[in-house]
Amino acid sequence: MRKRIILGLSVVLILALCLCLSACGHSHTWIDATCTTAKTCSECGEVEGEPLGHDWIAATCTEPKTCSRCGITEGKPLGHTWTPATCISPETCTVCGFVTDGPLGDHCCDQWSDEVDATCTSEGYKTGICKYCSEPFTITIPMKEHDYSDWVVSIPATCTSVGEEERVCKDCQHRETRQIEMLPHELGDWVVIETPTYTSDGLKAQYCQECSELINEEPYTFSEFLSDKIVIKGARDCVQVTDLSYFIDYDDFWPRFYLIVELTNISNNNLKLYSCTCDLLNDELTMLDKVDEYYFSTAPSIIAPGEKGYFFVNWGYDVSSLDLNSGLTVKVEVTINNSSKPPQQFSVSQVSWSPPSYDVLGYFENTTKSPTDSLYLVAVFLNSDGRAVAFSDTHLDPVEPGDSTSFKIQPLWGKTIYSGAEIVDCQVIAFDYWY
Ligand SMILES: [Zn+2]
Ligand SMILES: [Zn+2]
Ligand SMILES: [Zn+2]
Ligand SMILES: [Zn+2]
Ligand SMILES: [Zn+2]
Ligand SMILES: [Zn+2]
Repeated sequence: MRKRIILGLSVVLILALCLCLSACGHSHTWIDATCTTAKTCSECGEVEGEPLGHDWIAATCTEPKTCSRCGITEGKPLGHTWTPATCISPETCTVCGFVTDGPLGDHCCDQWSDEVDATCTSEGYKTGICKYCSEPFTITIPMKEHDYSDWVVSIPATCTSVGEEERVCKDCQHRETRQIEMLPHELGDWVVIETPTYTSDGLKAQYCQECSELINEEPYTFSEFLSDKIVIKGARDCVQVTDLSYFIDYDDFWPRFYLIVELTNISNNNLKLYSCTCDLLNDELTMLDKVDEYYFSTAPSIIAPGEKGYFFVNWGYDVSSLDLNSGLTVKVEVTINNSSKPPQQFSVSQVSWSPPSYDVLGYFENTTKSPTDSLYLVAVFLNSDGRAVAFSDTHLDPVEPGDSTSFKIQPLWGKTIYSGAEIVDCQVIAFDYWY
């Protein structure tokens, strides 16, 4: 009895044990392991063992590294390793033996049986047996370039004809020539062809110094004629005569001749204009006429550095009796002193003028701190080149500081001939003469 109980208990125990061992209560349904996953139960997900890992096949010329099991690839194909085409086989891969359907190559030879170098006059050649196909063959070697010396002028160019230069091959003496461009003309100084008169232009020309060809021809104005003939003396360090022009005013009696001497202050100081004398000389430097200070007007009396001033010279000369063909030299002597006084800053506004009278209207204001004494207003008429070509002037009664007054400047011209082109502008310069 006791034995039975023990047996029964044992069966119960074994059954219970078996029941415990198979905890899930099923037998596993295994999925085989792959390259990247281990053996797994499809029902309970239980795994056993390790993933297999990839089974790599090495890369080839055309295929990348590949897994034989799952087909995954890594990297790139190696590419073919080409051996050049020969006369018997086209380009071929030395690794996989792949043969292109490209063209065959040249014959090849390591030991030439006959060899002639190329020169600058003939091709060379090489003859041998092909090491691939055993055929005899010849290749030509292209002609060499000539080995020239430097270019040498054989015919110099001039301003009327082209020149030539040549070079010679050191090896074959082959001669090559090329043209040298014509030289430009060598411009000489302007030459006066025709002397101007007071009322009509002359003519000036420029010739080539080499071939004497006429290159340029232009009118030669009386103003230019004067400028070319001017000789300046005195006070030259601080002042420069920058222009000389003229106008002629003639009434029923005689033509009166006016010179306008334009000065520029090239010093660092204010300059006070004192006097100017003009001598009119012929080419032999014989005095034709002399103008004394009585006939001069200056404007302004003090000029600042870099500014312009003017001398107006009333020659009073009967120019019609003057023979310009015997030459004309104007000798200008300017007397100028350095001045510590600044130029006066009067205000001139609303300037208007018009032909045929050339009356100049405007307003004057004394913007200084002292009354004016001998106030002088000068109208300078300018042509389109900015040259002073005429002037007129007037005096004003004393003006107290801060006061203003209208003014009118009336030219005493009769019929006037100006140097240069027509008048296009008018500037009024105001200054105290005894300042
Ligand atoms: Zn399972
Ligand atoms: Zn794999
Ligand atoms: Zn290959
Ligand atoms: Zn060959
Ligand atoms: Zn040569
Ligand atoms: Zn020339």
